[in-house]
Amino acid sequence: MTDAQIIDGKSFAAALRERVTHAVGRVKEAHGLIPGLAVALIGDDAASGVYVRNKRKQTVDAGMRSFEHTLASDTSEEALLDLIARLNQDVAVHGILVQLPLPAQIDPDKVIDAIDPAKDVDGFHVINAGRLATGGKGMVPCTPLGCLMLLKDRLGDLSGMEAVIVGRSNIVGKPMAALLLRENCTVTVAHSRTRDLDLVCRRADILVAAVGRPEMIRGGWIKPGATVIDVGINRVPKQSEPGKYRLVGDVCFPEAAKVAGAITPVPGGVGPMTIACLLMNTLTAACRQTGIEEPEI
Ligand code: NDP
Repeated sequence: MTDAQIIDGKSFAAALRERVTHAVGRVKEAHGLIPGLAVALIGDDAASGVYVRNKRKQTVDAGMRSFEHTLASDTSEEALLDLIARLNQDVAVHGILVQLPLPAQIDPDKVIDAIDPAKDVDGFHVINAGRLATGGKGMVPCTPLGCLMLLKDRLGDLSGMEAVIVGRSNIVGKPMAALLLRENCTVTVAHSRTRDLDLVCRRADILVAAVGRPEMIRGGWIKPGATVIDVGINRVPKQSEPGKYRLVGDVCFPEAAKVAGAITPVPGGVGPMTIACLLMNTLTAACRQTGIEEPEI
């Protein structure tokens, strides 16, 4: 058995961000359009704060405008809905992202429903989910879109391939299934009630793990030569250094890398693709809202 090729999402994402930056420059020069992304952060969750700072930096680096709204953790649902209503009306804002998770007093579904679907760069609005499911043109959720780009870069035409997705969340599993179906894969979506999960996984030419359980998917569950996309990001204690943590995926990487044909590492695989796709979606949203032809990226 040979070792798997490591799919370098970090480099791919850097190259994608560069292409987006050039496209933003072309749109600015030709049409005077500067795409704008508004991010709302509610509360003081440390991990969310890091993501939001990262998003701001990468948005500005790509030549776009970043509008940040940091609200206290006791912000009411009404106040957040008011902010979204204002952002929906603001012509300088082409994309709106509300950082999840939200504090308990705010219903995330109500908030997502309030975002103008044209500005829903996360692709979570029910209109965008419906468009994706029915083959329409909407905003596609960033993480599965990033996974698809990595898969197509490695495999080219995905037609006829057996794809197994473990996880059926609205933000990863379900849109990933819709995207792979659109690419003519034969798609199986597995979840916590799936029987014989190991056997189901072993059928996959493409295995996408989006479970949120550290290293759950073992080497023996993987078909030799399969392409494995590990979406999971889990913090686990370091055995060697008590009190410290390391990041692992949902796939047991050392075992899987001995069987798979290619695999994304954690960190450095899917993670960096998410923000790069968010920038791409913001540019797409800006062009669609202003009637400008979407540039090649
Ligand atoms: P959710 O918790 O919303 O969904 C997890 C899914 O896994 C559910 O469908 C659940 O099934 C299924 N599941 C849970 N346990 C098992 C099990 N033992 N066997 C089979 N299926 C199981 O998670 P998300 O989709 O939001 O995220 C998944 C992972 O991806 C997390 O680690 C998260 O941190 C990461 N993530 C990474 C991103 C990135 O940028 N790279 C972005 C988003 C998420 P059921 O529906 O039956 O409960």
